[in-house]
Amino acid sequence: MPKTAKRPRPKIGKAGAKAKAKPKSKTPHPFSFPAKPYRRIHGPQGHSDYVAYKPWLRDEFEFRCVYCLTRERWGPEAHNRFSIDHVKPKSLHQDLTCDYDNLIYACIRCNTLKSTMLGLPDPCKVSLASHLKLNLRSGRFLALTGQGEQLIEYLRLNAQDRVDDRCFHLLIFQSIDPRIRKALPLKFGYPPDLPDLSKLRPPQGNSRPEGVMMSHFARYHRKELPLYY
Ligand SMILES: [Zn+2]
Repeated sequence: MPKTAKRPRPKIGKAGAKAKAKPKSKTPHPFSFPAKPYRRIHGPQGHSDYVAYKPWLRDEFEFRCVYCLTRERWGPEAHNRFSIDHVKPKSLHQDLTCDYDNLIYACIRCNTLKSTMLGLPDPCKVSLASHLKLNLRSGRFLALTGQGEQLIEYLRLNAQDRVDDRCFHLLIFQSIDPRIRKALPLKFGYPPDLPDLSKLRPPQGNSRPEGVMMSHFARYHRKELPLYY
């Protein structure tokens, strides 16, 4: 019997499925909260003025407010519009006023509104994604839980000017105009003044020294940072 030509076997199973799978976008949506609670990578210690921790916190929380996701790059005054929030209010926990693990990075507006309010979720213990979601059409945050409702109400996350600002940035991010897409890094990229944490010397050292090599400054110089995030 004449030999029949071998027909290529159709790809099946895992390999075939992989070949057909759509590549996943590596860039999370800029208006989505981190899927997991923030896990601190820095541990500077010993400052008697908590403001001295600001460069570490900027880097730790990716240069944006943990509560409303407003970014340093969205305003003319960059990080001057941001401040340091105490998870446990300093008026009630004076011993934690300069405890790095009690500090988070927030815009001045959220920080002022939060003030000494208790009971809001700690973004280092629970992902705010489980409490809040943004409606990409309306620019308004939706509450997924009772604590999400509190966040929206207490921090006025859906105040009209905040919604307008969000819609403006959503339009930029979603634009398909190539000229606007070229400019995305200006609004959604990292700030130009990334802090060089390797030069900082906290008075009582750093309990997580390995974090410095994972800082945005170090990653930028290793060409590991995406153009926008
Ligand atoms: Zn904020």
